[in-house]
Amino acid sequence: MPTIAQTDRPTRHALVTGGAGFIGSHLTDALLARGDHVTVVDNLWTGRRANLPAEHPRLRFIEANLRDALAAFGAGESFDEVYHLAAAVGVGLVMAQPIRAIETNVEETAALLRFVAARPRRDGQRGIPTLIASSSEVYGKSAKSPFSEEDDAVYGPTTVGRWSYACSKAIDEYLALAYAQRDALPVVVVRFFNTVGPRQVGEYGMVLPRFVHAARADEPLTVYGDGSASRCFCDVRDVVQALPRLLEARACHGRVFNLGSDRPITIATLADLVVRTLGSRSTIRRVPYSEAFPAGFEDLKQRQPDLARIRAAIGFAPAIPLERTIQDVASAMEAVRA
Ligand code: UDP
Repeated sequence: MPTIAQTDRPTRHALVTGGAGFIGSHLTDALLARGDHVTVVDNLWTGRRANLPAEHPRLRFIEANLRDALAAFGAGESFDEVYHLAAAVGVGLVMAQPIRAIETNVEETAALLRFVAARPRRDGQRGIPTLIASSSEVYGKSAKSPFSEEDDAVYGPTTVGRWSYACSKAIDEYLALAYAQRDALPVVVVRFFNTVGPRQVGEYGMVLPRFVHAARADEPLTVYGDGSASRCFCDVRDVVQALPRLLEARACHGRVFNLGSDRPITIATLADLVVRTLGSRSTIRRVPYSEAFPAGFEDLKQRQPDLARIRAAIGFAPAIPLERTIQDVASAMEAVRA
């Protein structure tokens, strides 16, 4: 797949919400590398200022809640494209802080869509091309595999908090698609599957940074259940290359896309791979689900995307092998410690 290339087109100005977060900061790097101006809005709830360059002539960093930042933009201020990545990320965070997480995911996206639909672009047309980040979690606990974009979602009851994450992202999708239909807003919805790489933190569950952290310290890697659950892990640097290409292809507007890797690996195999790749002396410790998760939590047995749609649209194919990602995650942790 071609990478984001520096071309002789006019300089563009992108707004990246959540740009100090894991995926947002890698996207910001990629946009700056191709010569764009980037405004990042991030309230640093889970994002970190250190994920972004300390100084860059084409980067403006605004530490604020998104709604406040949108309200503060001057009437003449506009963008060529918007990447909306500001969100409460992951089931763990949503279970720990449900009200803030649900309100963030629903209200900030609603405010952002109102803003981009109403605001004239820099070229005078109404409606700024906007990418809305969604999640593979919207498929819920459907047993079908792989997940295709038009598949049914299957959720548990509202008394089980984890499904609030899926529902909040589903509302974002409904809203975005409704703007596309009513206002012809050029909007693209992206369902991120398991995305991994430097700067991801393991605090709220994410398995790979937890495994790498443990392996570096020669501590046991905790595998939940029997380790037979599987996921497909895609390097964040592959993932962010796809985002501007989706937004810039008119045929993608008004559509939903899976984005990630479609090569499954069991969590037990992942643990072995991390230990082997890093030459660690760690052992593997099996932890029953009943100890790992709160009562009522259901771990998904498998999660794999059908990538036919995004392949046809932009020729997406991940290139970075998992071993390299593991090494780079470990090196990034080393750098932070140093
Ligand atoms: N997992 C694990 N040990 C950990 C963290 C996660 O075995 O320390 C498992 C978890 O039960 C799931 C898989 O790894 O089966 C992926 O978990 P993650 O939270 O990274 O992503 P998600 O479940 O949202 O796909």
